[in-house]
Amino acid sequence: ILTVSHLNQYYGDWQALHDINFVIAPGEVVALLGPSGSGKSTLIRTLNGLEPLHDGEITFQGKPVDPKKWPELRQKIGMVFQSYDLFPNLTVLDNITLAPQKVQHRSRADAEAEARQLLERVGLADHAQAYPRELSGGQQQRVAIVRALAMHPDLMLFDEVTASLDPEMVRGVLAIIKELAVQDQMTMVIVTHEMNFAAQVADRVLFLENGRLVETTPAKQFFAQPQSDRAAEFLTSMD
Ligand code: ATP
Ligand code: MG
Repeated sequence: ILTVSHLNQYYGDWQALHDINFVIAPGEVVALLGPSGSGKSTLIRTLNGLEPLHDGEITFQGKPVDPKKWPELRQKIGMVFQSYDLFPNLTVLDNITLAPQKVQHRSRADAEAEARQLLERVGLADHAQAYPRELSGGQQQRVAIVRALAMHPDLMLFDEVTASLDPEMVRGVLAIIKELAVQDQMTMVIVTHEMNFAAQVADRVLFLENGRLVETTPAKQFFAQPQSDRAAEFLTSMD
């Protein structure tokens, strides 16, 4: 579904990503791991057109990505960040139904019916009319996930979605992502510091270090016996 070839990314003169190459198959769950500053967010943002593509090629669903088409492609590539950036002046329901109506021209009734189903699924059916500030961080993050799902994406990108949550909120959000992986076979790239979670859901691990892809290893193997010393050190430090 996604191919990245010879990707180099820069901030000014400084090179953040060096010759990144990988393929993601439909239905695959990939954990993107690595130390702080290794380039995980830069890579995942590049996959959603949030960083301009400097050098290299990204192919999505068999077609090379044309930078002009990012607004269109973002309907197919959903992204959720660490900061749950819901629109503060809109209710939960309006946050979820805005883009399906505006961008995908679905009817209000249709968009709302689906939004309510999705809210039910993540345990927030009673909060459809609430405003984001009235929800906990974990609830807001679940709404952010639902908002992305309402566009029917073919690929979901998650960048440390539980990093700013209180520990007791983390579990509920991870459970939803796991359900998307297991029940829906959603194709996903997940950046996370939750190693147990990564070991449970990921099919494969991409391990970044200093902007270089050091390993792409089946998850079972990565967590049992990583190939590189750097990944082994990283896992020890995460214990
Ligand atoms: P973390 O685990 O802390 O989120 P990360 O792996 O996501 O780290 P990135 O945010 O991708 O790392 O950053 C990779 C490198 O690029 C870092 O050295 C960072 O300082 C640098 N960087 C990131 N964003 C910018 C920016 N907007 N301008 C300049 N440098 C940046
Ligand atoms: Mg990051």
